[in-house]
Amino acid sequence: MPCADDEAGRIAGEARRALEICNACQFCDGYCAVFSALKSRSLVLAADLTFLSNLCHNCRSCYHACQYAPPHAFDLNLPKSLSLVRQQSYRDHVWPPVLRGRLPGAGWSFVAAVTLAAMALVALPAVLSLPAEVLFGRHDGPGAFYRLVPWGAIAGVAGAVMLWSLLAIGFSVASFWRGMGPAPAGAALWPALRDALRDAASLRNLGGGGAGCNDRDERFSQARRRFHHALFYGVGLCFAATGVATVYDHGLGWQAPYPLLSLPVLLGSVGGVGMVVGTAGLALLKRRADPGPVARSLTGGDCALLAQLFLVAASGLGLLAMRETAAMGPLLLVHLGLVLGWFATLPYSKFLHAPFRVAALLRAAMEQKHSPPLTRKRSLR
Ligand code: SF4
Ligand code: SF4
Repeated sequence: MPCADDEAGRIAGEARRALEICNACQFCDGYCAVFSALKSRSLVLAADLTFLSNLCHNCRSCYHACQYAPPHAFDLNLPKSLSLVRQQSYRDHVWPPVLRGRLPGAGWSFVAAVTLAAMALVALPAVLSLPAEVLFGRHDGPGAFYRLVPWGAIAGVAGAVMLWSLLAIGFSVASFWRGMGPAPAGAALWPALRDALRDAASLRNLGGGGAGCNDRDERFSQARRRFHHALFYGVGLCFAATGVATVYDHGLGWQAPYPLLSLPVLLGSVGGVGMVVGTAGLALLKRRADPGPVARSLTGGDCALLAQLFLVAASGLGLLAMRETAAMGPLLLVHLGLVLGWFATLPYSKFLHAPFRVAALLRAAMEQKHSPPLTRKRSLR
């Protein structure tokens, strides 16, 4: 059985081989930002692999366009190679550093274990301290939720876990930024940041060569891009709902639950539906995908994050629908536990691809705006 270092070296070697063939071929130039960034590199070094793998949106257009893809003797599979390097980059830059190289695949077992622990942490104090008539009773009016779980406990525990996760993600992204090698000197940061955020918000690279991704086979489709949008903006709206609710509670003294037509409920409902549709759609596309360009070893981690986000959103919508019934107590505990588990796994799950990709898009935009055009002829040292 190969050791981890051998495996990482094999993955990097295969990705480097594929990218060097692509650099000579250039047929897919214009498909995505990877190929334009690749053109300026005569050699593909370790830092370039880190950068280019996270610039790839895994649209698979280059696999279906490639004359060297299997069954050709070159056996070139760029999306799969870059997916494996990308996964390795999450392990190499995870924070705290003691976890580097030791983080498991962050798949089903890891996400499930952390989520179950978080659910137990939320539910046990309530189950042990509250009488059954309170736990399974009907509660309405301002402060109904806090009769089951005190606001201080929700805000304190969730806030501390979220703070840790944001710090961990921030340190991971800083390490990843350094791992991509030095940024082009004198490149304009702010215009590049504007371009990177526009590309991230529009998921432009999921358009592949223009007509969309190859979700299932060689046919183009915009489905993956649309489901990603539903999920991305769904998560954003749910965070906005939480922010507005915090202002209502602490700024205006209006305690949850709020009326159906209030801003937090409207934002949360639309966001929750977006998350449910986005996660379910992406899971369906994954199930139907052509296995050729897929790195099977990563499917567990991808599906674990989708399942986690689906359950967070579905339990939130269920809580909204049942909040005036006796099911409100158990549903509240389940929802809060799932949210806490999600917060706790953010820096160690597939979620890390989002900030890493934005950082890679920023680096690509800085290179593009660099004048004169960046051409790095480097020697292997
Ligand atoms: S993926 Fe294939 S066709 Fe596209 S640039 Fe690479 S070698 Fe050429
Ligand atoms: S899979 Fe798509 S995003 Fe990735 S390198 Fe190929 S064309 Fe670019």
